[in-house]
Amino acid sequence: STRKKVSETTSNLRVAVRVRPMNGTERSEKCSTIVKVDKGKSSIDLKSKPFGPFFRVYDTDTTQADIYADLVSSQIKKVIAGFNCTVFAYGQTGTGKTFTMEGGRTDAKSSQDDPSTGIIPRAVEDIFEQLETSGCEEYSLRVSYVELYNEELFDLLASSESDDRERLRIFDDPHKKGVIVSGVEEVPVRNRSDVFKLLQLGAEKRRTAATLMNMHSSRSHSLFMVNVVVRENTNTGEELVKQGKLNLVDLAGSENIGRSGAQGNRAKEAGSINQSLLTLGRVIRSLTTNAQHVPYRESKLTRLLQDSLGGSTITSLIATLSPSSSNFEESQSTLEYAMRAA
Ligand code: ADP
Ligand code: MG
Repeated sequence: STRKKVSETTSNLRVAVRVRPMNGTERSEKCSTIVKVDKGKSSIDLKSKPFGPFFRVYDTDTTQADIYADLVSSQIKKVIAGFNCTVFAYGQTGTGKTFTMEGGRTDAKSSQDDPSTGIIPRAVEDIFEQLETSGCEEYSLRVSYVELYNEELFDLLASSESDDRERLRIFDDPHKKGVIVSGVEEVPVRNRSDVFKLLQLGAEKRRTAATLMNMHSSRSHSLFMVNVVVRENTNTGEELVKQGKLNLVDLAGSENIGRSGAQGNRAKEAGSINQSLLTLGRVIRSLTTNAQHVPYRESKLTRLLQDSLGGSTITSLIATLSPSSSNFEESQSTLEYAMRAA
């Protein structure tokens, strides 16, 4: 019966691997392709060494629409029904995390049918479509967009000039597991173009903060959170309020894990990225093995997501890979991380 329990839980965690096409640099350096996607076995061969099986494996020709439909769209129903779901992008910098979550060409994002549109705008649009077709009369969507850097939280949508480190506070929610971030901006959205604007605003804020603090964006996590509130009137005339949340998380570059030799601030950053990515891995692992203790409190990232991981949630982790021989070691470590989570 423990077996059964484990498989029930693992079905709520979906680990997928996505391989991006060779880029110009890799081609010009005459790198060879060392990653092979085995659809049949749902596994990845790295220099002929198999890793898997994974929930899904996506080859270089997989489109943004395919990934959305195959992996994410089913999570939307859960969110509308009042549950919390999460999608993570995990991988080495330059392997397609932001491309997968937000989309390609940042300046052309307003185009309605841009095929490079990523998961975040697609998800918001899908939420609206599903709410409309379900005949729901009263609903609202609010989004927050925060960045986590060195275990500190920054608000990417804040209109105020005050210091985020002063304003944002994390409290344990007395009513349920998880935390409340007080002071965080929650912006109502109505459609996909609202989301593009917010992503752009967030990206600008991220750049400014990066310059001010001399930080590297590959070293921070970004969390785009969509809160969905649906009000329904039951047959008996009572009002039913369902509140669900979709977390879309672009994680710090995994190459920062286990880097030795860093000094000063770099060492501190590497340490906290290390801590949050490793804790995330351990939290996921504890949930899939039904461990007694889940170490949510060991990093801010897992603390923030505590009410969205485990239980009746669906979590997807998309591990992104370069196909190139020049990235062998990082690809190996990404696949090992994904295997531990799967
Ligand atoms: P990361 O966020 O992991 O650092 P990016 O998403 O910024 O990586 O991707 C790096 C570059 O590769 C970008 O120019 C992006 O457009 C491109 N890219 C990534 N994944 C794909 C893909 N699946 N198909 C085409 N281009 C991609
Ligand atoms: Mg990125």
